[in-house]
Amino acid sequence: MTDFAATRAQFHIPEDVIYLDGNSLGPLPRTAEARVAAAVREEWGEMLIGGWNRAGWIEMPRILGDRIGTLIGAEPGSVVLGDTVSIKIYQALAAALEMRPDRRVVLSDRGNFPTDLYMAQGLIASLGRGHTLRMVAPEEVEAAIDEDVAVVLLTEVDYRTGRLHDMARLTARAQAAGALTIWDLAHSAGALPVDLAGAGADFAAGCTYKYLNAGPGAPAYIYVAPRHSDRALPALSGWFGHAAPFAFEPGYRPGVGIDRMRIGTPPVLQMAVVEAALGVWEGVSLADVRQRSIQLSDLFIAEVESRCPQLTLLTPRDPSRRGSQVSFGFSEGYAAIQALIARGVVGDFRAPDIMRFGITPLYIGEEELMRAALILQDVMENRLWDEPAYRFRAAVT
Ligand SMILES: *Cc1c(COP(=O)(O)O)cnc(C)c1O
Repeated sequence: MTDFAATRAQFHIPEDVIYLDGNSLGPLPRTAEARVAAAVREEWGEMLIGGWNRAGWIEMPRILGDRIGTLIGAEPGSVVLGDTVSIKIYQALAAALEMRPDRRVVLSDRGNFPTDLYMAQGLIASLGRGHTLRMVAPEEVEAAIDEDVAVVLLTEVDYRTGRLHDMARLTARAQAAGALTIWDLAHSAGALPVDLAGAGADFAAGCTYKYLNAGPGAPAYIYVAPRHSDRALPALSGWFGHAAPFAFEPGYRPGVGIDRMRIGTPPVLQMAVVEAALGVWEGVSLADVRQRSIQLSDLFIAEVESRCPQLTLLTPRDPSRRGSQVSFGFSEGYAAIQALIARGVVGDFRAPDIMRFGITPLYIGEEELMRAALILQDVMENRLWDEPAYRFRAAVT
């Protein structure tokens, strides 16, 4: 059984803060500070450029990729770190479209995270081959898969509502129709068990700064199923993805397997944080995390619904249909979230009217969720959100 008191002790969380935003930016793992200091002083400081070999910087995207792979059910050697989710989605989509040259439709849902849709639109425009992005309601995806669809591009857990797609079912359905699948795991990895290999997924991408707690700006990762990895062309053909980066050949030759999805120089210091953050997962069972996340989410939903009749639950009530966040709709949701933050409860707001709370069993328990619900009740009942200062929109919401 996972010891959640022990995992909690591994995080620094500011005093008097109930942090319900780990689905957006995970908190600081205590070991990260020392690990980064060592990377700065002992590696960069002392080894200088020798760090690429002596400290193994060059290998880190693969080694850390494999460690993330164990959390998302990926085969060894099928995940590599780098860049951002936007870029990794672009690469996966470019590769997948190239593998289905006779088809012209990219299918996604309207709940998908906008960057995935934007990247698809940009790629389609630059290809100039008449592809279209077909967007349907999340519950209509399955019925919209037909023989025109080249790629089904989905985020498994909806960033706004927390609704969970059935990865295995939709992957099977897409493949039966001859399409490929790309799964965005931004709100899945570290939040619930994911089984990419078991589902037969073709491609996936995700980030390390949300439920994996690797800090602001931490690199993304990409998964390519081993059966595709020597066929998939990375589109962004950078030197780190070349078969022999230090041969400095003028012509591009893609590297072997997942290595070809690398592009350029990786962020070494931030990867040191990824390494430290992944240490937290040792001895943690994702099945336990899932079970506890469901318990905690059920508790939070019950507490808030009984105390705050002004709020509408937007997250599916059925635990098997949601990820690890709870969202409520409220017309003054932005101001209400600011009022909560001012009282030490950190959630976030997503346009147009969504109050979002991340449930992260590694460092959040019953007691804090009950306290958060009481503070929310106070904010709602006494209209504490109704202050001009709480309506001011910062650049990041
Ligand atoms: C957070 C998030 C991203 C982030 O993309 P970046 O390019 O890494 O900033 C992408 N997709 C989803 C679904 C997300 O939730």
